[in-house]
Amino acid sequence: MTCSIDTNSGFCFGVTRAINAAEGELSNGSLYCLGDIVHNGQEVKRLELLGLRTIDYDDLRTLPSHARVLLRAHGEPPSTYWIAQQRGIEIIDATCPVVKKLQDRIRACYEAHKNDEALPPQIVIYGKPGHAEVIGLQGQTNNTAIVIENTDQLDRLDFSRPIYLFSQTTKSVEGFQNLVEAILQRKRSYSESGLTGEAGPTAQRSFEYHDTICRNVANRVAQLQDFARANDIVFFVGGTKSSNAKVLFNHCLEANPNTFFISSPEEITNHKSKIINHKSNSDCKVGICGATSTPLWLMEQVKAELEKL
Ligand code: SF4
Repeated sequence: MTCSIDTNSGFCFGVTRAINAAEGELSNGSLYCLGDIVHNGQEVKRLELLGLRTIDYDDLRTLPSHARVLLRAHGEPPSTYWIAQQRGIEIIDATCPVVKKLQDRIRACYEAHKNDEALPPQIVIYGKPGHAEVIGLQGQTNNTAIVIENTDQLDRLDFSRPIYLFSQTTKSVEGFQNLVEAILQRKRSYSESGLTGEAGPTAQRSFEYHDTICRNVANRVAQLQDFARANDIVFFVGGTKSSNAKVLFNHCLEANPNTFFISSPEEITNHKSKIINHKSNSDCKVGICGATSTPLWLMEQVKAELEKL
């Protein structure tokens, strides 16, 4: 049996940057993090052992003034900065620059169109409702943005009004393209349905879409699938709270049905029989990969556990 770790797996640039910021700031004294710094329980635990304390929004309102709070890569809505300022809390802003840029674009779009009273615009975010990044994006529009996850939810939009579509950074490119096609089709049907005059043609023209998906994630799908195909058995290491891990795991599974989701090295024992059966084939290749929130050290521990077998 040979065992290898996918070189394209592991923390993306934004998560690495936030974790480095936390480690650096911990050496200057006590530090809180608003929400899990990364959707990986093992990494959260490692940083908590170094002194990082994870808090929620209620805690933010009761922390002592001058406390230092790190904002993770997902970003935050303006209200978080406002509360911190009111309470004299020091913010260590580790928002990923890619997310920050997206927040700025959405805010600029909102500011440019919020007073269009004749045809009130709709800012639409293709994303997961309640996800931390999406909450931060909605906040740029005074929470007026509509969040949709798929084409089944298009009835929530008014096609007689302008639509400005953006995407959460970790969504799939294919899903975004499907959504764009579906909106274009609904806009066309609206104009052709006899609702012409001012609303018809205007409505058809006024659809702007911005593919704001982070290529750090999108490019991983093809690489992960190649890796999964090149191995007999694949262990995908990810946190159960990570939506990115679930999406990437399913892509691996599509490429190789012998792909298994695990969150810790101990879970390898649940799959021992599958490995032993494969071991009878003289050159069984076992691959280990993970999400953008999976630390390399965890994948290395999984490798060590596999090698014991
Ligand atoms: S996935 Fe992209 S946008 Fe999200 S934190 Fe990582 S680098 Fe930033």
